[in-house]
Amino acid sequence: MNTRIDLLMDRRQRLLGRNLSVAYEKPLHVVRGSMQYLYDDEGRQYLDAYNNVAHVGHCHPKVVAAGQRQMEVLNTNTRYLGDLILEYAEKLTATLPESLSVCFFINSGSEANELAIRLARAHTKAREMIVLEHAYHGNTTTCIDISPYKHDGAGGESAPAWVHTARLDSGHVVEIIQKLEAPLCGFIAESMPSVAGQIVLPDGYLSQAYDAVRRAGGVCIADEVQTGFGRTGTHFYAFERYGVVPDIVVLGKPIGNGHPIGAVITTRAIADSFDNGMEFFSTFGGNNVSCAIGLKVLEVVQEENLQAHALRVGQHLLAGLHELKPRHEVIHEIRGSGFFLGVELAHEAGAVVNQMRERGILMGTEGPLHNVIKIRPPMPFSEMDADRLVSTLAEVLIRG
Ligand code: PMP
Repeated sequence: MNTRIDLLMDRRQRLLGRNLSVAYEKPLHVVRGSMQYLYDDEGRQYLDAYNNVAHVGHCHPKVVAAGQRQMEVLNTNTRYLGDLILEYAEKLTATLPESLSVCFFINSGSEANELAIRLARAHTKAREMIVLEHAYHGNTTTCIDISPYKHDGAGGESAPAWVHTARLDSGHVVEIIQKLEAPLCGFIAESMPSVAGQIVLPDGYLSQAYDAVRRAGGVCIADEVQTGFGRTGTHFYAFERYGVVPDIVVLGKPIGNGHPIGAVITTRAIADSFDNGMEFFSTFGGNNVSCAIGLKVLEVVQEENLQAHALRVGQHLLAGLHELKPRHEVIHEIRGSGFFLGVELAHEAGAVVNQMRERGILMGTEGPLHNVIKIRPPMPFSEMDADRLVSTLAEVLIRG
């Protein structure tokens, strides 16, 4: 019996909504983070192979310093002119295709997707949306509406009439469009579906879908909240892998390295359709501190060549995992790219992930059957860390 943990759990049950979940059978009380490591209240170190939000590393000193410096100087909103927000927008749009030239800053991935839907509606004057099965796009009312993972799951009320869910096999988006009875607003998809189980879409899936959506007058939204900023190693954004250019790109999680920042980047034409007389304002979105942090995160990603690092170490990790496969029948499939990897097991992956946590390595489970081990570490994760993960996983799988 761990009384400290029990006391925290009791207080949490009393004080917070009870549908907040807690990771692991033995909950972790982490009190400190540094790069790819977390530390619990007894000083035990955990190798973090899960938390993609701490993209450039937990408490990266340059990001911390940038936030601290700006907090001492000024923190206000977009109704005043500022250099930082413009420098950030310039650097951010420089990472994207030329057509994606206008930024909106908000405070989370959910807010960013919510805004993306508003932009799409303003531009097309239509409502019908196509989404991918098992997708998750956020916790707001509209985001739940476009997230089959939620509205088709426990407590959900299934898809509203304006949401059409496409299977991940080729051709289904086209089929849905052919059967639509009202004008199409758009298509929203993660370029590599994460909650669905770290899926790499079939070749041609996105380009066929994007073409069909545009022919029907809709706009294409890429949710890059999980896959952006070099995580997949081969590209800065996962949509680039498929040779498509979205009309709206949604960013969140990693871009603030833990500080709440969401961003929507779109074309001038779509931004102008949205500029219809109604002011757009977010109290905290684009504030000076957020911009200082966002800018520093982007600089660190570039200065430390983290995309190339994710590709190199990700390949090393993939090779190690592939070596395990012939010796462990329970491994069905290994997939992904860079630091966006999934290991699909023949059974529920919860027990494996709990045993890995006992051995000091943090991972998660994913997929509709909870049978995919999700690996998406902070980007400083090293080759040595990868070797440790693979040998520890081998040990856990042998013990069953
Ligand atoms: N989109 C995707 C793909 C996500 O994974 C998430 C969060 N898991 C969101 C959007 C929502 O982001 P947030 O929790 O920051 O609102």
